Amino acid sequence: MPSKDGQKSSGSLRSADLYQILRAQLRGRNQKLKQRGFHELLAEEVAVSKIGEFYYGEKLFARPEDPKLRALADRYDMIPEQAFRMTGGPVETMKNPCRCADLTCLQIQGAHLSGSALEGSDVTFNGNPFEWSDIDVMLQLGPVEIDKDMKRNPTRSPDTIYVTKTSVPQKGFFLLHHVPLPSCSRHDPIPFSGHRLKKRLINTMKMNGFKKFRHTTNVRSLQNFTFEGPSVASTDQITSADMVICISFPHWPSQEFCSRKRHHKHPGGELVQLLCETPALLVPVGSADSSTKLHEWRLSFSRHEYLVYKALPRVLKDCLIVLKYANAVVNGPKAAIKGFLLKTSVLWLAELHSEDELNRKSFHDCLLMVLDFVYRRAEKGLPCYFWAEINLLGRCKPEDKEKIRQSVDRLKKHLEDAVRNIVAVFTRYDDSGVRDPRLPSRNYDDLRKFMFGNDATARRGEQDSETWMTEENMRKLFSSRAPLSTLHDKVLRTLSSPDKLKRCQEARKANRAKRW
Ligand SMILES: [Zn+2]
Repeated sequence: MPSKDGQKSSGSLRSADLYQILRAQLRGRNQKLKQRGFHELLAEEVAVSKIGEFYYGEKLFARPEDPKLRALADRYDMIPEQAFRMTGGPVETMKNPCRCADLTCLQIQGAHLSGSALEGSDVTFNGNPFEWSDIDVMLQLGPVEIDKDMKRNPTRSPDTIYVTKTSVPQKGFFLLHHVPLPSCSRHDPIPFSGHRLKKRLINTMKMNGFKKFRHTTNVRSLQNFTFEGPSVASTDQITSADMVICISFPHWPSQEFCSRKRHHKHPGGELVQLLCETPALLVPVGSADSSTKLHEWRLSFSRHEYLVYKALPRVLKDCLIVLKYANAVVNGPKAAIKGFLLKTSVLWLAELHSEDELNRKSFHDCLLMVLDFVYRRAEKGLPCYFWAEINLLGRCKPEDKEKIRQSVDRLKKHLEDAVRNIVAVFTRYDDSGVRDPRLPSRNYDDLRKFMFGNDATARRGEQDSETWMTEENMRKLFSSRAPLSTLHDKVLRTLSSPDKLKRCQEARKANRAKRW
């Protein structure tokens, strides 16, 4: 059993050494992804592979010349059976209700990665037959003007979508409605619907599937789409990715965040100011049990999270990423402890404890501090870091809260074994640039024996029965190569080739003015 300070008698490494190696390995893995332009290029690569060639400023819903593709894009104009055969899916019936709700001026203004992939805190193992965190690519659409005072300033550009915003009962969610054209005779406002945009995005992705794989007519067998929550998830042979539509929301309610008392002056005044001035995003997802759910939008602070994350004390950054990995191997790919729970907890803890105070603790104690915070918050509710009136667990059922608490207990119990397993897996990949002379060869059995010492067999039994870290799963992590790693390598090659890089930079420069 681990003693009070996390020291364990079994295994060849002391707890403190083990954590030191893991933190170095995780930083080493992230280091190569920190090259200038890497994340931008990765987001674009994924977007192009999913929705086809586009350049910033091109219309997302442009109608193609090819009659077959055209039919697919306009499939709500086809007879249902024909459309079903062609697309392998149900037919969109929502026609454009009025000229006021025309979407043809919408453009892709940018593609960027969302928080955890940017931070390098998303869980990616190389040997990867499992569903860990997918790559999330945000597609920013626009131009959309929210709540522009049309009476005082009636100039209306034909290339902009004008909408008004109304709140719904659940905080953080909004409905947007098209501002009617002066000539319009309709009485009811038409929603600017996230659901409608997601369906159109799927059409665009299916069209791309047709273009890429013309030899077959069943696109569904090549690309699988699901759309729960804000994203359109797409899985094909290349990689699985979640495409998240978003629009810019400049005037988010930032008063509480701006005026919050911060005893340890973290984040600092300048950063707080910058955060308040940074537009939030709206993503298409509705509040639970709402009759207008399909059309609603939810606030997203993914840009803000990234800015605050960068300013975190190093020890808390390391806590977040170590806990994400440990949670993944202890509780499995569908763990009840979600990434946002860990991240939000860490952001709050950075306000509650000074960096000096944190550095005086052992790393093991810092990890336990975060987990205890998550446990308490699963009971009391977890305020959104940027708008504390929103309870992120407000709609979480009691049994789901109980699952979170059980998962925290399991993670605490098996934390050190998880870390031993993860260090072994990273040592096997040897892709972190960290070569500790104490670590043995890259053979599974040798590494396991080294990590767990004479205790290896006894601990195997507990890990097999109580956690995801079974013998079978761990051996799989030691085997194949993940598609995402292949994509990473491709982007790294582009970055290291002057010709390719120049072309990318020029394309980007030409379109910079149109981006956020
Ligand atoms: Zn109208």
